[in-house]
Amino acid sequence: MNNIPPLDLTRQYQQIDSEVSTQVLEILRSGRYIGGAAVSHFEQVFAQYTGTEYSVGCNSGTDALYLALRVLNIGTGDEVITSPFTFIATAEVISLLGAKPVFVDIDPESYNLDVSQLEAAITERTKAIIPVHLFGRPVVMDALMAIAQRHNLPVIEDCAQATGAEWQGQKVGSIGHLGCFSFFPTKNLGACGDGGAITTNNPDLAAQLRMLREHGSKERYIHELIGVNSRLDALQAAILTIKLSHLDQWNEGRSQVAQRYHKLLSPLDTIALPSSPDQGKAVWNQYSIRILAGERDNIRAKLAEQGISTMIYYPIPLHQQPVYQHLNHPPGSFPHSEQVARQILALPMFPELSPSEQERVVDALSAMLPREKNRVAGRL
Ligand SMILES: *Cc1c(COP(=O)(O)O)cnc(C)c1O
Repeated sequence: MNNIPPLDLTRQYQQIDSEVSTQVLEILRSGRYIGGAAVSHFEQVFAQYTGTEYSVGCNSGTDALYLALRVLNIGTGDEVITSPFTFIATAEVISLLGAKPVFVDIDPESYNLDVSQLEAAITERTKAIIPVHLFGRPVVMDALMAIAQRHNLPVIEDCAQATGAEWQGQKVGSIGHLGCFSFFPTKNLGACGDGGAITTNNPDLAAQLRMLREHGSKERYIHELIGVNSRLDALQAAILTIKLSHLDQWNEGRSQVAQRYHKLLSPLDTIALPSSPDQGKAVWNQYSIRILAGERDNIRAKLAEQGISTMIYYPIPLHQQPVYQHLNHPPGSFPHSEQVARQILALPMFPELSPSEQERVVDALSAMLPREKNRVAGRL
C-alpha cells in the first residue's frame, strides 16, 4: 500500500504544470527577476482577492509580521498580545524588535486566542494585538476588534494559515489594520519557495511598508528609513498569480476533505474533532484532532508504521519554549494551550487527498483507540 503523506504538493503541481512552466520560462527569458510587472500584478490581484486596498509583497510570512510591527513603530518596552499556541514566528518578531510577547490562552474549541480573556491582558504598554487564524479557522474578529477599538490598539492579523478564510463575510487580512500572509509552500496559497505579503486599507502604512521592504527607500539610493531587503521574487509572484486563481477551488477541496473526516470520525468517542466556525468560513490548512485518552505519541508512531504520516502542530506552546524561559510562565499558566499541545494530532490534509485514503487513515486510527466506550466528559 502507498504511503499517505501529511500533504502532497506534487498532486497540486500537476494541475498547473503547463501554465506555470510557460510563465516561469517567460520570466527567466525576460531577465527581469526582482520587482517589475509580475510583482505589481500579483499585489493588485491579491489585494482584490482579500478585499483590501493595498497588498505589499515581501520575502516571507515572518517578514510580513516583522514589517507590520516595524510600520507601527513597535520596539523596546512595548507589549504585543498574541496566542501562545502558534508557530514561533508570531512571537519571534515581537522579541526581535525588543518588545515583549504577552500571551492570552486559547479557547480549546477553536484553538484560537480566547477573546474573552483579551481585555485582562491589556496594559499601558500594550501597543498591538496579533490574532492568529490558526489551522485556517478565523478568530472571532468582531469581538476582538471591539476590544481593540475601545483601547485604541492596532490589530495585525496573522493570516499565514488562513488565506481565503472569512469572518462574518469579510476575508481575513481585511478586518484588522494589517494582514500578514505567508506563501510558504505548505500554506493554502503556497509559492515554490518563500514569500509573503501584508495587506492594509491605509495608504500611508502601505507606502511605508514598500519603503521598509526595500532598504527604507522610495527613490533609489535615497534612504529615509532603516529598512531591510525583503522583496517578493518575480518568479514567485508569477506562480502565486496563477495559483491564486485556483485557490477557492482548492480551499473547497479542503473543506470537503474536512467534512468527510468529520463524518467518518464522529462515531469515535475518545477524540475531539475540530469544529466549524458558525459565523465564518475556515479554510482548513490543517485538520487537527485531539486524542483525549492519552497515548497521542504512541498512536502517531503506530500510524507511521502503517505508512500514515501525521504531524503535531504544536508540541510545545511558546511560553514553554526554551527561548521564552525568561518570561517566567510556570506550568499551568496557559492551561488550554498546554493541554491541547499534549493532545493535538494533525491528520493528512490537502485538497487532493482521496476518499479511500481518508478511509484508510480513519480505519487505522479507530483500531488504535481504546475499545471500551469510555466517553470523555466535556471537550477537554
Ligand atoms: C508559516 C507561519 C508563519 C511564518 O511564515 P513564513 O513564510 O514561514 O515565514 C507565521 N505565522 C504562522 C501562524 C505560520 O503558520
